[in-house]
Amino acid sequence: MTKRTSKDIRNQSRFALLRGLYSLRTATRQELTAATGLSFATISNIVGELIDVGVLVEAGREDSGGGRPVTRLKISPERGALVGIDIAETYVHVDIYDLALGVIGQAESEPAIDENEPSALVRHVAGVLDQAVADAGISRDRLLRVGISLPGQVDPQRGVSVFAPNWDWHEVHIQSLLSEALGLPVDVDNPLRAIAIAELWFGAGRLVNNVATVNLGTGVGTGLAIDGDLVRGSSNTAGEWGHTTLVYNGRLCRCGRRGCVEAYLGVPGLQATMAEINAAHDLLTGDRQREFVADVAKGLADDDPDCKELIEVTARYFAAALGNLVNFINPDHVSILGWTARLLGAELLEVTDKYLPNEMLPSARAAVRVSLSSVVGNSVTLGMATFALEGFLEQVGLPSRGASTRASFGNTSSLAAGA
Ligand SMILES: [Zn+2]
Repeated sequence: MTKRTSKDIRNQSRFALLRGLYSLRTATRQELTAATGLSFATISNIVGELIDVGVLVEAGREDSGGGRPVTRLKISPERGALVGIDIAETYVHVDIYDLALGVIGQAESEPAIDENEPSALVRHVAGVLDQAVADAGISRDRLLRVGISLPGQVDPQRGVSVFAPNWDWHEVHIQSLLSEALGLPVDVDNPLRAIAIAELWFGAGRLVNNVATVNLGTGVGTGLAIDGDLVRGSSNTAGEWGHTTLVYNGRLCRCGRRGCVEAYLGVPGLQATMAEINAAHDLLTGDRQREFVADVAKGLADDDPDCKELIEVTARYFAAALGNLVNFINPDHVSILGWTARLLGAELLEVTDKYLPNEMLPSARAAVRVSLSSVVGNSVTLGMATFALEGFLEQVGLPSRGASTRASFGNTSSLAAGA
C-alpha cells in the first residue's frame, strides 16, 4: 500500500468529519471533535474550508453555558444536487440527492434487451436521468456531479468497465461516454464498493469501523470496510464472497465454477433449492426472479410447507457462508441488504440465527452482530452519491483521492473528467 502523506491524513480527517456530520445531522465544532476523535484545531480548519466552498452552513447559535455562544453547523442542502445511478443487469435506477444526501427525485426504467451496447445504454441512462430531474422539480444546472455503479469489474481510476460478463463488455471507457452524454462530471465504481461506503457512512458504520455488507439478489457479494477504510483489493474486485466455494464440486455457478455461495444464495440458487424440495411447486412455473421471491414471501405468510423448507435449507447454506466470512475478517457488524433481503430477510435471518453460532469461532462470534441493514433507501445510489460528493470536493479545490474512501489507490488525483 502507498505510504500516507500529510495530504492523505488531511483528506481522511475531512471524511471523518463529514461522516460524523451526516450521522449527527447538525453539530457544533465541539461535538464533531468528540465524534471524530480529531483535535479541535483540525476540526476548526476543516470546517473553515468546507464553509468557504459552501458545503457547510450555520444551522443556528446556542448558549454554551456562560461563555460565547457556539455555532451549530449543517451540510447545506441548497448547495446543489448529486446524482446516484445504479445500472444493474436488468434495470437503471436514478436517485437525485440534495447535498445533505436526502432523496429529492427518482426514476427507474428497464432497458430493452438490445440496449446493451455501450452507446445505446448511455443514451438510455441519459433519458432516465432527465425523468429523475423532472421528478425532483429542479433545474438541470443544479446538478453538481454523478456517481454511477456498473456491474462487473470496474476500474474507477481509469473510468473503465474492465469486464461485464452479462453484456460481453471488455475495456469499455464508460466514464467518458457517460460524462459526455450527461454533460456532467461522472465517477464510476462497482456496486459492492457503493454498498460498503453507504453502510460505513449511514448504516452500522456510524457506530463501528469493521463492517461487512452482504448483498442478496440475483447475485450475491459483500462490500467490506476495515478500520473505517473501504477494501478494494488489487484490482477493485475484493468482496466477491459469492464466488467462494461453499460446496466442493457442487452446483454449477454462472461464473463457470462449481459450488459457489451464489449458486445457493442467489435467486437462481433459491429456485434450484425449491426444485429439489418440490419440482412441481407452482412457484417454479414463472421465470421472473422478482415474482419468485415475492411469491415465496407470500407462501411463508400462508404457511406453505415447501416455502418454509426452502427458508430452512437456505438458512443452513447462509449460516455456513456467513460463518466463513466472519471467521475470515472478524467484523464488528454484518449488515444484510438487497432485494431478496427486503422480501425474505427477516424470516431468513431468524432461521439463520439458529445455525450461525456453530459456524463461527468463539472469538469472532463474540465480537459480531448480524442484522438487516439500517440504511434507508437505495444503498447503491446513496453510496455512489457519496463518491460523487468526494469527486465534487476535489472539483472545488479540496483534493480527496487517497482519503478514507479511496485508501487503496494511494494519493493519485487523475479523475477530473468534465471538471
Ligand atoms: Zn461463481
